[in-house]
Amino acid sequence: ASKSAAAAIRDGFAAMAAALHTAEEALGRLDAIAGDGDHGRGMTRGCGAALAAAARAVEQGGGARTTLLAAASGWADAAGGTSGALWGAGLLACGACLDDATVPDGATLVRAVHAAAAAVQELGGANAGDKTMIDVLLPFRAQFTDSITAGARPSAALRQAAVVARDAAQATAALRPRRGRARPLAERSLGNPDPGAVSLALCIDAIATVLKE
Ligand code: ADP
Ligand code: MG
Ligand code: MG
Repeated sequence: ASKSAAAAIRDGFAAMAAALHTAEEALGRLDAIAGDGDHGRGMTRGCGAALAAAARAVEQGGGARTTLLAAASGWADAAGGTSGALWGAGLLACGACLDDATVPDGATLVRAVHAAAAAVQELGGANAGDKTMIDVLLPFRAQFTDSITAGARPSAALRQAAVVARDAAQATAALRPRRGRARPLAERSLGNPDPGAVSLALCIDAIATVLKE
């Protein structure tokens, strides 16, 4: 029997947690250039809590929706900081697009990605070019949607979109921050990528890698 969608979600958080743990110090250093240096810590704390909540939900027989909603609340409660609230909102919107009975198909996942981006933009108010995680989320959404529309399976679409996300994260180095804590120190930030953009691309890559298996 193939793995349930809920177990795949749990494993996705486990892969993200491992990747974030490895990158925690580097993300903190990146955030310290123009921010307060806590981004690596906040991401590992949020993701760890999300993983614990997802694992509990799977143990209790929860489906995909229940598992992702539990993970979203866990993340939002534990992470702290701007990115924690935004990640919680984005994951919550994703989970609300799923149901407990079926494995989400490509069209459902496209809707979930759109809902996540809309929730993050509504809460944070950032647009493309403001040097935030939105500068990864929007190109990721566009490539994922295009790949699914072109007939790719979700795992292949995710791999294609992960490459776009990584390039988009690096490209934020050329931008000046117009949102969040980094704005007052915009000049220092120039030449360095946005920490929230880098961590999002890292998480997408981790999920793409684990879903391929
Ligand atoms: P804090 O700034 O509260 O310490 P973090 O350091 O965890 O929070 O997260 C900083 C990241 O959050 C930034 O690098 C950026 O990607 C993201 N961010 C900040 N403000 C916004 C916003 N308004 N919309 C979207 N993302 C944002
Ligand atoms: Mg910070
Ligand atoms: Mg902070």
